[in-house]
Amino acid sequence: MTETIIRKRPQLSLDQYIEGILKQDITILSRSISLMESTLPIHHQLSLALLDRLMPYTGKAHRIAISGVPGVGKSTFIEAFGMHLIDQGLKVAVLAIDPSSVKSGGSILGDKTRMPILSIQNNAFIRPSPSAGTLGGVALKTREAPLICEAFGFDVILIETVGVGQSEVIVSEMTDSFIALMLGNAGDELQGMKRGLMEVVDLLVVNKADGELKLIAQRAVQMYQGILQFFKSPKSVWTPKAIACSALQKEGMAEIWALLCQHRQMMTASGEWESKREKQSEKWFISALETALHDRLLNEMSQEIELAQQALRKGKNASMLAQSIFEKWLSHQKLDQENR
Ligand code: GDP
Repeated sequence: MTETIIRKRPQLSLDQYIEGILKQDITILSRSISLMESTLPIHHQLSLALLDRLMPYTGKAHRIAISGVPGVGKSTFIEAFGMHLIDQGLKVAVLAIDPSSVKSGGSILGDKTRMPILSIQNNAFIRPSPSAGTLGGVALKTREAPLICEAFGFDVILIETVGVGQSEVIVSEMTDSFIALMLGNAGDELQGMKRGLMEVVDLLVVNKADGELKLIAQRAVQMYQGILQFFKSPKSVWTPKAIACSALQKEGMAEIWALLCQHRQMMTASGEWESKREKQSEKWFISALETALHDRLLNEMSQEIELAQQALRKGKNASMLAQSIFEKWLSHQKLDQENR
């Protein structure tokens, strides 16, 4: 779908993209992200060059993950929290990552209609999760949109995701602070409160702390506060915190932002902010390398792979078949080199 949209319009040059982003042209920002998501080789080359030129303008934003099961109140929270940030004079971008690339509980992540007030603000940009079929190399491509938003000048990048599959891990590898939205009255299992989540969470927010649920939410905060102590990394100055809020009543937003600022301050002072970003870049590099290798090998050895798959069905050893294809590919590379 992304390709079709891009093809219908005249292709912009690299300079036009750069100029548009640096001049804060929101249409060019959207088109740049579409370019990043495109699977066409020509777009891939252009997007690599674009990101390369924009890298010097990145790095200043606070990248925040917002995770939670469908129905916990993610979009209501992003609307309230985003508006709180806008009121502080900040520019806010909302991106969504849905690795399942299916509708989550009936709603598309980052859907503008779910954030009606935030979506019409001049200082806000909301980008829904890419539709199914455009998600080739999810983990890789999703790292690029936030960087483009940073170069554009957004101060805070909110990345929404559902707590399913590998999404928390992917999102934690591209953000500075991780918020897990929870309910006070749901079982941990129901909320997907797995060990993996507890290891990446910086701020656990119990939503819907209003009306009859207020007391339950406050009790849940105390319980989570206790549990989180056990997940504090001995290497970190930060102890994950729990706090209650009502996204619907817009209560608790200032307190949550204060805690996130404290997180940034403490992590920056200890050097962890920078080292976390360095580690993330290293992972990004390795995963880019893996994707490039994987795509090329699959493309150049497609016939051999098909034959191997037939052999596999006849009971041949999978590791052996893979190894022989890899070696064959290496020898093709050598021959190519020699013929040049
Ligand atoms: P998402 O699927 O995680 O994005 O959840 P939504 O933001 O769509 O919210 C799901 C439902 O919970 C909606 O009916 C919201 O109105 C409701 N909701 C969200 N936040 C709150 C809150 O703070 N208090 C109450 N009482 N309801 C809320």
